[in-house]
Amino acid sequence: MKFLITGGAGFIGSHLATYLVGKNNEVAILDNFSTGKRENIRGLPVELIKGDIRNIECLDEAVAGVDTVFHQAALCSVVRSVNDPLSTHEVNATGTLKVLEACRRAGVRRVVFASSSSVYGDAESLPKLEQMPAAPLSPYAVSKLIGEHYCQLYWKAFGLETVALRYFNVFGPRQDPDSEYAAVIPKFMQALVNGEPLEVFGDGSQTRDFTYVENVVLANVAAAMSARAAGKVMNIACGSRWSLLDLLARLNKLFDTDVSPILREWRKGDVRHSQASIDLAQKLIGFWPQVGFEQGLNKTVGWYLSSRRPEREVVTRVLSDTRESVPLQAGSRQ
Ligand code: NAD
Repeated sequence: MKFLITGGAGFIGSHLATYLVGKNNEVAILDNFSTGKRENIRGLPVELIKGDIRNIECLDEAVAGVDTVFHQAALCSVVRSVNDPLSTHEVNATGTLKVLEACRRAGVRRVVFASSSSVYGDAESLPKLEQMPAAPLSPYAVSKLIGEHYCQLYWKAFGLETVALRYFNVFGPRQDPDSEYAAVIPKFMQALVNGEPLEVFGDGSQTRDFTYVENVVLANVAAAMSARAAGKVMNIACGSRWSLLDLLARLNKLFDTDVSPILREWRKGDVRHSQASIDLAQKLIGFWPQVGFEQGLNKTVGWYLSSRRPEREVVTRVLSDTRESVPLQAGSRQ
């Protein structure tokens, strides 16, 4: 059985590729390397197609003979989408339509689409349930919602099996700390290790359902296989939430630092609180997170320290401490 991963040289896609190759599957990757890196997939026995999901000829070539497409390729940043809505739409919305169309024509069995918790926006109540109305706050969130709608349309109108997974704040090894649009965990780690100012937009009380990447990989694989998942949209997360101040406290402990954040204005497009219900994913694809937030954070810090040449000595308590502490409960605010 052959799998194609669009965006397979990126953070999540490369973990998925590593997993699938490890299970002796035939894997192809289509990536334009806009944010993906060759080093993420170095040594992996995959077919590598350097190309763009906006190019339909390139897609036709990539999907030929493929059973399942894991569609991860996207411009992933909320901030970037606010600065440049058109490119985000072109890659994430139109690009997803082109992927689906190429799959339909080629007779691909299933497409698993990487959607995002951002589609909920600032929904009042927590946890976020799939049946809540979407309320996107950024062009990125709109582009992901359009992708979901196209996925459902291709299932209903053409019988192409599609599953959309709404990822909640994925983190783990290989997440790029250097990008202008870096996610919060790599950004905080970089600031702590380099002794740079650590900025927080807002007051740090905003919460996120941080999800270790291995959970997302397993969710993708289950979504590809489960008969009940076709045509569905579901949350993929841990079902708990941690504030940015919680995160910083935990990282301060792991890096043996004592850094306070510099508080900046709230940013356009950012949501205040995010926490998923994962009941539907459990029911439809048997999903349950295997790695919790704190264990995942320990692994991520361990990777971060081993993958860089330290600019100064850092002390870490990462490996000894794998216990989980209690996250905020659903509905509680801080
Ligand atoms: P990433 O930037 O590391 O990976 C995206 C990959 O897509 C990169 O390898 C990039 O080079 C490739 N790509 C971008 N535009 C392309 C194009 N036009 N043609 C071909 N390849 C292209 O990001 P990631 O964090 O691994 O995200 C993977 C997917 O998960 C994305 O669809 C993202 O929107 C979604 N997602 C991520 C998170 C998260 O917390 N990381 C949360 C919700 C959803």
